[in-house]
Amino acid sequence: MSRDRHGLRLRTLKYNLELTSRCNFRCGMCPMDDIQRPYEDAPWWMVEKVAGEMKELGLSMRYLHELGEPLLYKRLAEAIDLFPGVCVSTNASLLTPEKSKEILDSSLTRIILSLDTLLPEVYAVSRKGGKFEQVAENIRGFLELSKGKKIRVEIQRMLTPLTQHEKNRDFEDFFGLSKYPQARITQKTCEGLDTSEVTELHQAYYGCFQGTPYQWFVILASGEVSHCCYDYDATQSLGNVKTQSIREIAASPMLDVIEDGFNRHDFSKLPRCAECFKNPAAAPPVTDRVWMLAQRLPSYIKDPLRRFLNVAK
Ligand code: SF4
Repeated sequence: MSRDRHGLRLRTLKYNLELTSRCNFRCGMCPMDDIQRPYEDAPWWMVEKVAGEMKELGLSMRYLHELGEPLLYKRLAEAIDLFPGVCVSTNASLLTPEKSKEILDSSLTRIILSLDTLLPEVYAVSRKGGKFEQVAENIRGFLELSKGKKIRVEIQRMLTPLTQHEKNRDFEDFFGLSKYPQARITQKTCEGLDTSEVTELHQAYYGCFQGTPYQWFVILASGEVSHCCYDYDATQSLGNVKTQSIREIAASPMLDVIEDGFNRHDFSKLPRCAECFKNPAAAPPVTDRVWMLAQRLPSYIKDPLRRFLNVAK
């Protein structure tokens, strides 16, 4: 369990920090146009405060991302250096050779490049605002520049009803990955962040996608903290890192509200979770079901299983 009577067990959580809520795309599965908070950058002092506290507590940041495009954040390379081992996920549209070099000169060890599909017509639906050829070119350039560097490059494809016939092999051939041992193709099931309705890109939500409400510690650019990466507006906020310490937030009274809602299956005080539970008849894909069941296993079993299922960490 990720919670005891003192609050969240900090070492069991996955941490992410949204450096910016601004984005140059409007993707088909993203609520960017619906968010109820400003498009803004995380103030640098807040980024440093979080980094300092996490270092003191022995915690690791997993992603510099929630919504928003991290490459729009001016001090991205400096932010990467504040969080050893952190991963950056990008739509790769701004991954120019200059930006690539800047990132590769930082301590970054893992990057996710979201391409979703090799079909330009589907790309135009899933990554609205992006130009397929340009992004593919940027990825090719990054592969070349990152050759021989200590970095894991993940080119991420998205499983949707429109792309499920594509194969990892198609992507490997497209980018000639046999020349780039630092790179691999990963796949992710498309889960609409913004809706529990079926769209052409994703199926309906089927309940708690996380399996438990206490997996994440999501810090938005505003400083608000949510317990779930699907709660993109922090409607179920635990606190704010601008004015509170991580320890204080981990003992938030909101945890009792969440606990009570899940125990009684009453989501009237949990608007984001209520969306997830809106379709009781919906069922998760097989890989997600296996992965959810695996959450209680020790990591020496979970890690190889994750690689076998090819699900995101
Ligand atoms: S928003 Fe709530 S129900 Fe949905 S995945 Fe997150 S914790 Fe689970």
